[in-house]
Amino acid sequence: MLEGDIPSAMNPPSGCPFQTRCRWKSEVPGGLCEREVPPVRHLAEGHQVKCHLADDILARMEPVIKIAAE
Ligand code: SF4
Repeated sequence: MLEGDIPSAMNPPSGCPFQTRCRWKSEVPGGLCEREVPPVRHLAEGHQVKCHLADDILARMEPVIKIAAE
């Protein structure tokens, strides 16, 4: 379950759009989540993420949303 403030669609936060609600933000060094929108990264097995977290942290997570391939 996500916690924290829901970002305003009219005035979105800088950087990652999830940064006001993300419990993992502190794992990303240098305040990158607050400064830069994460790029799309392609992981194993056709998975894609938009996140600044390191590969080893992402590898330990279960997906929140799964989109079935057509
Ligand atoms: S980039 Fe990743 S770690 Fe950073 S706020 Fe967004 S979802 Fe969280």
